[in-house]
Amino acid sequence: MIQEVDRIQNMLDQLLQLARLENGSVATNARDIDLVLFLQDLRSDWTARLEERQMQMSIDIPSAVQIHTDATLLTLILDNLISNAWKYGREGGKIVLSWHAAYRQLSVSDDGPGIHASHMAQVFDRFYRLDDSRSSSVPGAGLGLSIARKLAEVLGLGLRLVSREGEGTSFILDFHDKG
Ligand code: ATP
Ligand code: MG
Repeated sequence: MIQEVDRIQNMLDQLLQLARLENGSVATNARDIDLVLFLQDLRSDWTARLEERQMQMSIDIPSAVQIHTDATLLTLILDNLISNAWKYGREGGKIVLSWHAAYRQLSVSDDGPGIHASHMAQVFDRFYRLDDSRSSSVPGAGLGLSIARKLAEVLGLGLRLVSREGEGTSFILDFHDKG
């Protein structure tokens, strides 16, 4: 019962976030961010959950990188992507946060089951979950990626995914034009 109330509360929070984003009533406050420090902080928030599933998270950024964006909204985007890598990734698996300097792209990759090409566009739709996720005990409303994409739009960033079934999934945030 308490779990069910939590689930509904969480979904209402997500719907409210989406409504605010659609309203254009989300303020942004861009600042310079040291990407490595920022991701190290984010990773420390995930330590306990990573241990729970015996997962590793590595940060693969060769040299210092500065980005200019809203830290709170970027955290919300990355938390959604990491939460998926954590939930759908395999137990004992690896999550990699990496920066591709030439393209100014930040990616969140996992070595989980992957997403078949025929579902790639739909995972960004509201309430869309793959059959595996629906039938499993992994909780979720299917709203995280639609929120992440809206947040990315607000920040002027592209968000797309690359995946191979059986190998893993990468979500790529594109800072090429912004930040
Ligand atoms: P919520 O994020 O609202 O808690 P959710 O995780 O099911 O629920 P989304 O984050 O929008 O919703 O993801 C939609 C669906 O895409 C998921 O249910 C899952 O089927 C699939 N998916 C998302 N990320 C991954 C991933 N990294 N690996 C495999 N499948 C994924
Ligand atoms: Mg999710």
